[in-house]
Amino acid sequence: MNNQSSWVKSTCAYCGVGCGIKSRINNQGQLDIKGDEQHPANKGKLCAKALTLTETLTNDNRMLIPQILNKPVSWNEALDETVTQLQSIINRYGPSAVAFYVSGQLLTEDYYVVNKLAKGFIGTANIDTNSRLCMSSAVAGHQRAFGEDCVAGCYDDLEAADVVILTGSNLAWCHPILFQRLKLAQQQHNTKIVVIDPRHTASCDIADLHLAITPGSDIALFNGLLNYLNNNNYIDQEYINAHTNNIEAALTTAATLSNDENVSQLTGISAEKLRTFYQLFANHPRTVTVYSQGVNQSISGTDKVNAIINCHLATGRIGKLGATPFSITGQPNAMGGREVGGLATTLAAHLSFERQDHWQLLSDFWQTNNLATKPGLKAVDMFDAIANGTIKAVWIIATNPAASLPNSNKINRALAQCPCVIVSDCVNNNDTLRHATIKLPAQGWSEKSGTVTNSERYISRQRRLLPTQGEAKPDWWIITQVAQRMGFGDSFNYTNEAQIFAEHVALTATNNHPHQTPRLLNLSGLSHLTAHDYDNLLPQQWPINDDGINQQRLFSDGIFPTQDGKACFIATPYRPPITHHSTAYPLLLNTGRIRDQWHTMTRTGLSASLAGHIQEPLISVHPTDADHYKLSNNQLVTVTSQYSKAIFRVRISTEVKPRQVFIAIHWTQQTSSSGSVCALIDEQCDPISGQPQFKATAVQLTPL
Ligand code: SF4
Repeated sequence: MNNQSSWVKSTCAYCGVGCGIKSRINNQGQLDIKGDEQHPANKGKLCAKALTLTETLTNDNRMLIPQILNKPVSWNEALDETVTQLQSIINRYGPSAVAFYVSGQLLTEDYYVVNKLAKGFIGTANIDTNSRLCMSSAVAGHQRAFGEDCVAGCYDDLEAADVVILTGSNLAWCHPILFQRLKLAQQQHNTKIVVIDPRHTASCDIADLHLAITPGSDIALFNGLLNYLNNNNYIDQEYINAHTNNIEAALTTAATLSNDENVSQLTGISAEKLRTFYQLFANHPRTVTVYSQGVNQSISGTDKVNAIINCHLATGRIGKLGATPFSITGQPNAMGGREVGGLATTLAAHLSFERQDHWQLLSDFWQTNNLATKPGLKAVDMFDAIANGTIKAVWIIATNPAASLPNSNKINRALAQCPCVIVSDCVNNNDTLRHATIKLPAQGWSEKSGTVTNSERYISRQRRLLPTQGEAKPDWWIITQVAQRMGFGDSFNYTNEAQIFAEHVALTATNNHPHQTPRLLNLSGLSHLTAHDYDNLLPQQWPINDDGINQQRLFSDGIFPTQDGKACFIATPYRPPITHHSTAYPLLLNTGRIRDQWHTMTRTGLSASLAGHIQEPLISVHPTDADHYKLSNNQLVTVTSQYSKAIFRVRISTEVKPRQVFIAIHWTQQTSSSGSVCALIDEQCDPISGQPQFKATAVQLTPL
């Protein structure tokens, strides 16, 4: 008998490429998964993580029922207790004593509702997201240059380009399907590929040029490029005059580096290699610069982003086929979170705290008198406020900050002393849940329904594939129930995710009313979507105008969403990373992802196939340092920073340069008995974006 269900389209649970999948329940009652040939991001292809998603769909470690102080309770009791605790803290200390820490794993509908509750009705802007850790520097850089946070180009641009620069991006491991598309394009029309990364990563396998720059010297490199373009008449003066402001400041700052010799000294790249890079950029109008965590996770991450964008604006290489700066984001819905104001520093629909007309528009749209008036605390500052007692309640949703934030021992101490820690999650046990006073079981991937936005602005449906385990609920439902019990019922009377999406769409359409400065984020073409249309929604790339037409590329008309319609060059002075380098901590620790694991491994750690790639936390050490410390392959070594220590197995490799080491971020205190890399990591942040510096921690090694 054939009991197979029909194929249902959804999206992968992992990275920001946002691949489409098709899934069905087979005759054995299990999920089959394959790529969706019609999805524009992946055209049927999937990487190993997506292909093993079924291995992660287990009841092991699922949170199945609500709990208060680890005792099972009914949903009514858990929700009532959540409201009692939040309300008593708000009454006593004010709304800012309550914080929310959410996640790029949430669906857009969940994200929209939690922001509406926090900023719009409780009146606290202390709601930040783990996306702060991966792309907030890109957000801040885009806002400064373009007037709004947006990714100008699309994946097709990587295929159409003559030169693709991957800077601070190990695309091969972190965004595998986009890497495969690039590799195929290279084979078909000989795309030149430049990798800028202190490490020799898997992405270097297809590189024509690898610039293993000194960590943190990206601004010197791109200021040097701007200098070169200016001095050799490669800048597009007509474009600059018509569509930009402030180039003089950027050129003057770049010129302080004065010559290739200076840039060479700062970046550690020979003058000859620098010239090869500059000429590749200068002579190929179709150039795409892809940037990711290696650029963003830095104390000068925002300036690095602007240094890259400056070079594209100076040559008019934006909004054109195969010519764009391109930020690639980590999580499946970091982009959707950005759209609904997921960061403490933004309002929904790309509206801004700094603009009174924006604030008023949102107040009117939500019909609230409580909308927060100024930005809230960014992630690291938020946990500092929990540590010092200013914040007395935190609701953590779909993320594991006790393992993933820098200086994670401090985060654990802060949560241990916080009077009210509410955690919504689909797992029952992780580093953060140890501190929860109230645990709320949420639906996981395969049970949830809603939308996500990928790195090229495609909004895709994530659909329910399997029945929900235990008493888990959608995140939007949990938040809505709390809002209703707090007395905000009229504004939170949603009964399904389609209603929430419709409200988000309506806000973006109101936002683009003729009396407003138009925002690029416009979904007005989806305004008349019925619940049935929402169920059947195909991927849509915003902006989507009134006629439903999607826009693949932004700024093709040279008009930017600023007051005068022009983009802005930003002066980006070079600052070396602050590392606390000393004889006590003489090596520089870099961190990143590996191919087959994801975040803190709560999901990928369940797959035996994925574990086969790299089975335990390793530290990559250059042979000369291995000699110096008398280390051999597979030996254990204690790594110490000014914050903590942890033990790792040595892998001697020329992938890292001398005096640099590399450790993957995934293993935590809970999954590795020898300690967590995040406990070691420097907690300093970019002063503009608040993004922590995950790539430059001073450490010492002690052989065991
Ligand atoms: Fe999933 Fe990213 Fe792999 Fe695509 S590239 S299948 S979105 S992990």
